[in-house]
Amino acid sequence: MILFLTCMTITINICFSSNPCSLRTLSVDGHFSFDEVHHAAKDFGNRFQLLPLAVLYPKSVSDIATTIRHIWQMGPNSELTVAARGHSHSLQGQAQAHQGVVINMESLQGRKMHVHTGNYPYVDASGGDLWIDILRECLKYELAPKSWTDYLHLTVGGTLSNAGVSGQAFRHGPQINNVHQLEVVTGMGEVLNCSEKQNSDLFHSVLGGLGQFGIITRARISLEPASDMVKWIRVLYSDFTTFAADQERLIGAGSTFDYIEGFVIINRTGLLNNWRSSFNPQDPVQASQFQSDGRTLYCLELAKYFNRDRIDALNEEVRNLLSQLRYITSTLFLTEVPYLEFLDRVHVSEVKLRSKGLWEVPHPWLNLLVPKSKINDFADEVFGNILTDTSNGPILIYPVNKSKWDNRTSVVIPDEDIFYLVAFLTSAVPSSTGNDGLEHILTQNKRILEFCETARLGMKQYLPHYTTQEEWKAHFGPRWEVFAQRKSIYDPLAILAPGQRIFQKAI
Ligand code: FAD
Repeated sequence: MILFLTCMTITINICFSSNPCSLRTLSVDGHFSFDEVHHAAKDFGNRFQLLPLAVLYPKSVSDIATTIRHIWQMGPNSELTVAARGHSHSLQGQAQAHQGVVINMESLQGRKMHVHTGNYPYVDASGGDLWIDILRECLKYELAPKSWTDYLHLTVGGTLSNAGVSGQAFRHGPQINNVHQLEVVTGMGEVLNCSEKQNSDLFHSVLGGLGQFGIITRARISLEPASDMVKWIRVLYSDFTTFAADQERLIGAGSTFDYIEGFVIINRTGLLNNWRSSFNPQDPVQASQFQSDGRTLYCLELAKYFNRDRIDALNEEVRNLLSQLRYITSTLFLTEVPYLEFLDRVHVSEVKLRSKGLWEVPHPWLNLLVPKSKINDFADEVFGNILTDTSNGPILIYPVNKSKWDNRTSVVIPDEDIFYLVAFLTSAVPSSTGNDGLEHILTQNKRILEFCETARLGMKQYLPHYTTQEEWKAHFGPRWEVFAQRKSIYDPLAILAPGQRIFQKAI
């Protein structure tokens, strides 16, 4: 009996002190879950699993502010951290919080998405909104965001914490360059609006800030008129230098395509490798199944937006642009698809892979930004030496213009006017010990990273993943001090986004 009473006293005392269970006493419009937390320890990468203590399903911004303020007020005595969880398409646990609080951003309600028309149209969206929902809403007004990711089932807060890059970035810059204003909850639980003019340091910190400085609860996103249709084109090259030169020519031209990407075809077929493809004949998808006879081929992927009443002029323009390129002439694949179908094209592959149980497998992805001056060296070694037999998923490769990236944001990019995004979007076959297994792919990734390091390519990781602060310092280079200083201003206790493993909460 005495023992029982002692235990009870201890529990009560702990709850009144800076113990995690005091979260139970917080008054929020939404709710906390303390039991069903396992799903918040999973992400698309399917390799890292950190169990949180609780998941907050916020109904309002003030739920998020109240929770963070509460943890902030506990001070350094508490180990609690907070991770915003968007659509959890991170690769290495970046949206997880070991024994902390995960905030399920998609349940954030309150002000509805609102499209503003006029000369400078924009949409106000929640940090937890999916880009596909934003697109659908904007299309009701014949408008659309300018800059995308290839896959739209990601949240606004998730992509703005990285950059958000796709085939439109050469012209519009990444998504973080197409945002006018943010509402942010800082690591002290303050709710602040920020923009170029108001709290501009916070604004630039948060964009590409890996969730370190605040939780994005609202974003004002720039829009442009949407088209009805898209002319979607793929052409093949057998020579990397010619392929890259054509890509660079296109991203530098005044009159050009609306979307420019490319990918590498390494002697391959199979569902996993075709997950981004969803055409039928007259059929650009066939480009990725082209008989390469063991050679490596490079596929340039292009798109031009148009309205149906302009089809003749559009055809003429496309003919002109294509006539300047040096692809293998027999390999022109071309189709027309509705605008939404083009932008949401990867989802079709997701549905296909899910139905075969191939979506929820480990994804040891590697995303790199390689300076233009080193891209031929990179291609020689990686496609000519490291990855010769096969690849376990698509390899994207396309250039973007640095001038379209605002250097005041937190994202780190190579120091050259043009750099390439190279994305190894691999899937591992669970429990395989062969070339399609996780260990083999991780070894290949390591070889690629080691080559970049020894050849001093000036490469930077996109969606970076490091495990020590030393590595993070090297990643940021001369920008580390600013990054660390911003952290000390907006999240001095290092409560936010612990899954990035950049800062550790001091206790
Ligand atoms: P989460 O994984 O949930 O979170 C990512 C990070 O952001 C975490 O640290 C989290 O704590 C933080 N975070 C989440 N929400 C907020 C918020 N509201 N405020 C502050 N921090 C927050 N990226 C590209 O750039 N281009 C692509 O074409 C592209 N294609 C992809 C295709 C697929 C199939 C997948 C799985 C990923 C792709 N990505 C691409 C990467 C993607 O942009 C990032 O992984 C992004 O973080 C995922 O968004 P999410 O909503 O799932 O974020």
